[in-house]
Amino acid sequence: MSYVSKVLDGTCPKCGETKVFKAKGNPFLFKMPVMNARCSKCSYSFHREPGFYFGGMYMSYALTVAEMVAVFVLGLLFNVGFLSIFFGVVLIVLLLSTFNYRMSRLMWLNLFYKNEEEV
Ligand SMILES: [Zn+2]
Repeated sequence: MSYVSKVLDGTCPKCGETKVFKAKGNPFLFKMPVMNARCSKCSYSFHREPGFYFGGMYMSYALTVAEMVAVFVLGLLFNVGFLSIFFGVVLIVLLLSTFNYRMSRLMWLNLFYKNEEEV
């Protein structure tokens, strides 16, 4: 399995059989995604160490900025007013907040799994 497919599937980086998140979260209900502590098949710990996902915040920041820029450029292409673009950017950031949270953590987890294999 490639890095991209592991991140998009949201499965364990080691065995690829179980999901990392047990709840996807819902921005409308203010529910955050919930991670499993360990893989039920191979016991790989998804909570690597305290503060491990601190770096995942940079991934989340990059995803959010990319989405904001995409909405801004689309707004300019379709010649929408700046106020509409602003509200479009705010809406897309709020709607994709739980998606960004999950993707950033999965990207971070899979990024460092490769390094563990090489050691
Ligand atoms: Zn596993």
